[in-house]
Amino acid sequence: MDFGFTPEQQAFRQEIRDFLAKEIPPDWCGRHFTWINEEEWRQARAFDRKLAARGWLTLAWPKEYGGQGRSHIEQLIFLEEMGYHHAPNGGGWSHGPVFVGPTIMHYGSLEQKRRFLPPISRGEEIWCQGFSEPDAGSDLASLQTRAVRDGDEYVLSGEKHFVGQGHRSEWCIVAARTDPHAPKHRGLSMFLLHMRTPGVTVNPMHTLPRYGAQWQILLDNARVPASHLVGEENRGFYQMMSTMDFERNRIDHAAETARVIDDLAAYAGTRGLSANAVLRHKLAEMAVEARVAILLNYRIAWQLNAGKIPNYEASIAKLVTERARQRAAALGMEVLGLHSQLAIGDSRSPDGGKLSDLYLAMVSVTIVGGTSEIQRNVIAQRGLGLPRG
Ligand SMILES: Cc1cc2nc3c(=O)[nH]c(=O)nc-3n(C[C@H](O)[C@H](O)[C@H](O)COP(=O)(O)OP(=O)(O)OC[C@H]3O[C@@H](n4cnc5c(N)ncnc54)[C@H](O)[C@@H]3O)c2cc1C
Repeated sequence: MDFGFTPEQQAFRQEIRDFLAKEIPPDWCGRHFTWINEEEWRQARAFDRKLAARGWLTLAWPKEYGGQGRSHIEQLIFLEEMGYHHAPNGGGWSHGPVFVGPTIMHYGSLEQKRRFLPPISRGEEIWCQGFSEPDAGSDLASLQTRAVRDGDEYVLSGEKHFVGQGHRSEWCIVAARTDPHAPKHRGLSMFLLHMRTPGVTVNPMHTLPRYGAQWQILLDNARVPASHLVGEENRGFYQMMSTMDFERNRIDHAAETARVIDDLAAYAGTRGLSANAVLRHKLAEMAVEARVAILLNYRIAWQLNAGKIPNYEASIAKLVTERARQRAAALGMEVLGLHSQLAIGDSRSPDGGKLSDLYLAMVSVTIVGGTSEIQRNVIAQRGLGLPRG
């Protein structure tokens, strides 16, 4: 792996920084992606469109699908800068480009690639992910949503929950059981579901930040064209694992953590706190942890560039990155003291309330996309070759 960037890549990073300095709305609150309200959502979507106009959403995709045909390293640089600058995200630069598009690119038919990839590149269609169910989270193979073939369609019935942006997405990548008699891992399939399909109901869920930060999707005989089956029927479980591996590559999260520490160090400096040796050590320790998380995510980009699907490496990156995010937010609460509890929009907060929002958002990051325990299982089994427990 090459740890350096070429002069062209460094120039590209500077171009992105210049763009962000000019284009992030001055009143952008920095709220966590899945919690943004309607006004913030409109701001974030407008920002998505500016990124799309530059072709930055899908830099590493082939030109025929709306990409720029550039390398995964440029894609990584872009996402790193988005995360570091708390850039607005209306979904345009996360789910679609990061894991739905790559799944379609890898397993989808030519027709699906032509239909679904260009609108993701243009930031026009937002995607959500309908994998988890009330009795199938870590053990996704147990999912019970049924998909029954009926002529040229599949008829889907069941319940998905904890779907981020379920109410705003045009499309959902959804997993369902197509063969109830096969062993549980071998009877699942993956579909592309339009969210306005009759029989699809989206309901808000009660979660920590507020009612409606996550969404339940009820499927009641929702009909999906057979042409929207992704890959092979009954191979869905294995495809879902690839989707998760793409999803766990979040350089933007690692970079956001580095920014939190940089901001805390600057704040400590202005408040005369840097004389406190214990705090200095904590900040230094977290700066190192954030840097390690960044490097682990660089490794994933390097693998993607080499045409590989990251595997246990993505689990290592996720485990370290999400832990660092939680620890950085907790340190922030300590540094800001009582001010850390002021919410976004409170003018008395030294950071506009970003940290309190981040701290609450961080509670779930070691659960979303596969819990830390599951990442450790993946590392043990696929990485170290240990037997299943
Ligand atoms: C904020 C948020 C957003 C989410 N967004 C989405 C989304 O957009 N789309 C989607 O499909 N899902 C989403 N999820 C669901 C998420 O993927 C699941 O919550 C997660 O996989 C854990 O599943 P579970 O909640 O059913 O917990 P369980 O699987 O019931 O786990 C409970 C506990 O048992 C542990 N455990 C379970 N099995 C093992 C094992 N084999 N070894 C060791 N420990 C184990 C877990 O680590 C956990 O601590 C989201 C979840 C949250 C909280």
